[in-house]
Amino acid sequence: MPGEHLRPGPADAVAAAEEFLLSLPAPWTPWPQTARSLALTLAAAAQARGWTLGAALREQLTGRPHGIRSHPAVLSARIRQLPYRPPPTRCGACGAPGSLVHANGQSPRPLCVPCATSPAGPPSVDPAAQAAAVRSAIRTDRRALRR
Ligand SMILES: [Zn+2]
Repeated sequence: MPGEHLRPGPADAVAAAEEFLLSLPAPWTPWPQTARSLALTLAAAAQARGWTLGAALREQLTGRPHGIRSHPAVLSARIRQLPYRPPPTRCGACGAPGSLVHANGQSPRPLCVPCATSPAGPPSVDPAAQAAAVRSAIRTDRRALRR
């Protein structure tokens, strides 16, 4: 992993987490004492669940801001319930990054929308190849029936 050798020790990680918490935008900015008490939990949770102290984590902790009455309580809960960070996803067919969907039955891996909505493979236009594909499918079926 890039930067692996730069990983700070636990004390540094807690200090960095505290600094990160204090850098959160209002109304999420915790009191210094609160930041200190949350930093250890955040450092441990982030390390265990694959987060770095960056924009994605900031968004995870401060996103979905509607209907929140107590930001400190929500921040604390979000840190304690930090989910595993989803790996950066790429389309299982064409490798494009971005928003992916699970196309059940087409691919075990998530696909980008163009891949998920287009047919799995271009049908052959060669009649002989089509006939061969049909014969092959029939043979496979017969084999399955004999079992
Ligand atoms: Zn794709």
